[in-house]
Amino acid sequence: MKPDTSIPQLLEQLRDQLRHYNYQYYVLDDPQVPDAEYDRVFQQLKALEDEHPELITAESPTQRVGAAPLTAFTQVRHEMPMLSLDNAFSADDMYSFEKRLHDRLKWIEDTPLTFACEPKLDGIAVSLLYEQGRLVRGATRGDGSTGEDISLNVRTIESIPLQLMGAGYPERLEVRGEIYMPRRSFTRLNEAALKRGDKPFVNPRNAAAGSLRQLDPKITAQRSLEMCCYSVGVVSGGELPDNHADILRQLATWGLKINAEMAVVQGAKGCLEYYDALSERRNQLAYEIDGIVFKVNDIALQQRLGFVSRAPRWAIAHKFPAQEEITQVKAIEFQVGRTGAITPVARLEPVFVGGVTVSNATLHNMDEVERLDVRAGDSVIIRRAGDVIPQVVSVVLERRPADAEAVQLPATCPVCDAEVIRVASEAVARCSGGLSCGAQRKEALKHYVSRKAMDIDGLGEKLIDALVEKELVHSPADLYQLHHRQLASMERMGDKSATKLLQSIDNSKATELANFIYALGIREVGEATARTLALHFGSLEAVMAASEEQLQATPDIGPVVAQYIVSFFHQVHNREVIDALRQAGVHWQDVSLDQASQPLLGQTWVLTGTLEQMPRSEAKKQLLALGAKVAGSVSAKTDYVVAGPGAGSKLQKAEALNIPVMDEAELMALLTQYNE
Ligand code: NAD
Repeated sequence: MKPDTSIPQLLEQLRDQLRHYNYQYYVLDDPQVPDAEYDRVFQQLKALEDEHPELITAESPTQRVGAAPLTAFTQVRHEMPMLSLDNAFSADDMYSFEKRLHDRLKWIEDTPLTFACEPKLDGIAVSLLYEQGRLVRGATRGDGSTGEDISLNVRTIESIPLQLMGAGYPERLEVRGEIYMPRRSFTRLNEAALKRGDKPFVNPRNAAAGSLRQLDPKITAQRSLEMCCYSVGVVSGGELPDNHADILRQLATWGLKINAEMAVVQGAKGCLEYYDALSERRNQLAYEIDGIVFKVNDIALQQRLGFVSRAPRWAIAHKFPAQEEITQVKAIEFQVGRTGAITPVARLEPVFVGGVTVSNATLHNMDEVERLDVRAGDSVIIRRAGDVIPQVVSVVLERRPADAEAVQLPATCPVCDAEVIRVASEAVARCSGGLSCGAQRKEALKHYVSRKAMDIDGLGEKLIDALVEKELVHSPADLYQLHHRQLASMERMGDKSATKLLQSIDNSKATELANFIYALGIREVGEATARTLALHFGSLEAVMAASEEQLQATPDIGPVVAQYIVSFFHQVHNREVIDALRQAGVHWQDVSLDQASQPLLGQTWVLTGTLEQMPRSEAKKQLLALGAKVAGSVSAKTDYVVAGPGAGSKLQKAEALNIPVMDEAELMALLTQYNE
């Protein structure tokens, strides 16, 4: 707190800030700051209000739920308020929660309370009203007492039954739950938005909220939303079980979806065990969760505990560590990769997010920089979920410094000064320096020695940088010419480590074909593609001699990659490096081709006339996949001709040369036999 800010002023500042965040989050579905930032300000306000309870006002965000509903929708008054939840951020908070419950209930210390545990889905809270088992209304939570009528929208969601199944449901039953967007639908939605050049949603929660609160329910219908039920509101004309878990199970029998992870445990200790177990699996779930909700299971106890202004006393949300955080961009720099790709990278004020400290985030390419409009000095939201690399989600424009300048792609390579080229059809800009660019050379070497390539232990990034800078190594082949003396004289290298390194360079000479192909660093040829090439062609010579067509006939290789492979082996420089490596003693065993998968290897086929059951291109593809060459003209080298109706001179020539001819039906039979 600034010394000249009085407590009431500070309280008002924090409240204003939260109201502003609430408006952006709840009304516009477009939050400007991550939840973690919101939670920090909220906790700060709460702590200050706890110290000065006389200054609490009914309008304070700590006393209210959500935000007022949008007037564009018809408003719905909730017969029973829809509340929020108190938060716990640590095990200590959970034990304090348990203690508060025990104190209030005068519960015997060493008898644990029973809790129902459910993942806290990150979506939007919704109330569904069923009368005589028929869905009559759907509403958002709004500010807790008034929500928005979204009946038409909820009716488009398939997991919401329009009529309850079975029997025995109360005459009036209000079911509450979370409408959310599964991860896969979210990814698909955002990919489509990016393709159209639209703004993507920052996270599945906002995507769900934005999709649901649409005046046109047809849009909601296209958005793959789901609903998971977690409690009931108004219940009349019927009875429900006396504990929370059984109520949910009962809802499930009526066709309502409940969470499959729901469990019942004893005491805060049981809650924490559940929390730990589910946090391990958090990123494998099909939907995003931001914590676990624990509820006193016994409904009679829930009623005794009641609620405070905005949340029940009998429940708590134990939040997971944040996967989104806010930090500042110190600079935007350009890195040069192995293939010359120039990648903009945001250098960040280090920030703890998703369990690690993040200080860099790739911005991928200039299109992404322009889409995000990110600049040095900006405050940005960083997201790191699971093992996924940290990502800049958005810029907090409100905090942009006045002098922040838009980022420009450098005209020349920051490492070698060669011209930077950006082909119109490609998002990526590239340094035109090739292997004369030190950065590309270093990256090519780092790739060559990496574990999945030639696996040369002890040749770290710094050492490679130094070897390139001292001009001792220009290409991978030079590694095999290094002397003990040269290595031992490098910084932080001694006699022993030089000997060890030479040994591991020597060991790398005996390798596998797939590793070697991968190590060459051909654009877009990753580990899996390298393996496919090795298995399919059996020898390096065969891969080098393969045409684009033949390459494309192998699984997973499309026209672009095929072109990269052919052009890689066309370059004299690359052939020279391969020769030098072999001369240095790098060797492998050719892969014995599985005749079963390549039964037509070595044969040349010609297709002529019209095929009726499959396009000629498809027949050709299948023949190529079986190892055959498909030629355009008949010669003495042709092994088979397939002739459909309308075949002319090629058929005549085949007959003249005595080449076997088959019709389409025979070809189909053959393909079926081989493809079985
Ligand atoms: P909350 O999200 O912390 O918890 C209450 C909500 O949890 C319920 O309304 C319900 O929708 C949901 N929920 C999910 N699973 C549940 C389950 N099994 N049982 C019961 N409820 C379940 O509270 P809130 O009032 O909805 O929102 C406050 C939170 O929203 C803040 O803590 C913050 O993280 C976020 N927020 C962020 C911003 C921002 O600008 N980034 C602004 C406002 C709020």
